[in-house]
Amino acid sequence: MLAVHQLLAFNDNYIHLLLDEASGEGAVIDPGDAAPVLQAVERNGWKLTQIWTTHHHADHAGGTEELKAKLGLKVFGAAIDAHRLPGLDVGLKDQDELRLGEHRARALFVPGHTSGHLAYWFDDERMLFPGDTLFAMGCGRLFEEPADVMWASLSRLKNLPGDTLVYCAHEYTLANGRFAKNIEPENESLLLRLNEARAMRDKGLSTVPFRLDLDLATNPFLRAGSAQAFAELRRQKDVFK
Ligand code: ZN
Ligand code: FE
Repeated sequence: MLAVHQLLAFNDNYIHLLLDEASGEGAVIDPGDAAPVLQAVERNGWKLTQIWTTHHHADHAGGTEELKAKLGLKVFGAAIDAHRLPGLDVGLKDQDELRLGEHRARALFVPGHTSGHLAYWFDDERMLFPGDTLFAMGCGRLFEEPADVMWASLSRLKNLPGDTLVYCAHEYTLANGRFAKNIEPENESLLLRLNEARAMRDKGLSTVPFRLDLDLATNPFLRAGSAQAFAELRRQKDVFK
């Protein structure tokens, strides 16, 4: 069994801890802050051995060096970003394999939000950790690449199995849902999902993870149909109030 624990950091970042029950080994994905990870490890007696980083932004990589120093973790991230990923030990390229006990994941190179962005994909477990590339009903901002590059990355993620659980790195669901509803006001699945998400957030619950097939039915960015249409949507979202 591969268990996933979700920790909240800052306002809306999710740090995910993966624990392989057979080996007792754990990995942490995108520790922007070391403190919640250290607390969770201490409280539960978990043995973390690896850090997997999706991209260099501080809210994802900011806790890496402290965790590495205190827990002796091995740090994985994009080889192309070695110059700006703190404490990087293993540089990954597209399709490189990662292991946690008997479980295997692959790094998917998904540039767009940044030019060195990775997602982590567990084929057998049907789990995706897309960092800031894909969000519930939304996607990351284009900081370092043009829209067609992000569109190509999202198109790869779109083709993963529909029952994939997506563990994105931010709780942006309600804001994304408001924009999505504005784009597709007649989309029943979207309206239903937005209402459910509101109810969950009212109870303080996380809306992450979510199923990829639900996002394919409700995320206007995945539904854009062309790089050009995607680019236009992204421009609208950037100024949406
Ligand atoms: Zn980011
Ligand atoms: Fe982020």
